[in-house]
Amino acid sequence: MEFNELKESILACRDCAEKFGHTPSPIFHGTQHSKIMQISQAPSKNVHLTKRPFNDPSGDKLKYQWYQITDDEFYNEDNFYITSIAHCFPGKNGKGGDKPPPLSCAKKWMATEMSFVDNKIFVIIGAKAANYLFPGIPFIDLVFNEHILGDKPTYVMPHPSPLNVRWFKEHPAFEEQRLPVIRAKVWEALGKTE
Ligand code: SF4
Repeated sequence: MEFNELKESILACRDCAEKFGHTPSPIFHGTQHSKIMQISQAPSKNVHLTKRPFNDPSGDKLKYQWYQITDDEFYNEDNFYITSIAHCFPGKNGKGGDKPPPLSCAKKWMATEMSFVDNKIFVIIGAKAANYLFPGIPFIDLVFNEHILGDKPTYVMPHPSPLNVRWFKEHPAFEEQRLPVIRAKVWEALGKTE
């Protein structure tokens, strides 16, 4: 399979239509040579509607506060391959949150996507994505240490969602100590100096 065939196959996937109760809209972006492969959980409803990854309050925090980069830098396909363990918005759970990302999506696509992209580093966002990629390792250990996926340095962050505020309060060392290290690695991978 060629990379373009893979992208077309993901875009055409509707496996979860019945489970979601709406037509799936797979959302990801990047090239085979994106410098950073960012893997998160699943698109939000706003991302589903606008078809632009991290085009929501989580994205604002991620791009502007955590990475400290511009939209032009984030959405430059040479910089980021942006994907998720579930490529489609799974719907709401009735309590205001999103349904869990279907792991069937990750099982179907993730290893193949990872095998095609020649990224320098991985950034994993959110406990669900981290637990899928590093099963059995406590999330806190994943966040505060460097890991390897394949042969590439991998950095794990909590989800930047405003709903995650309790985790941020309970783990101030993330934003005070760990985040600057991860940001420096992201900037280094991008070749960004200011
Ligand atoms: S979430 Fe994944 S498996 Fe489900 S329809 Fe979307 S692309 Fe297909």
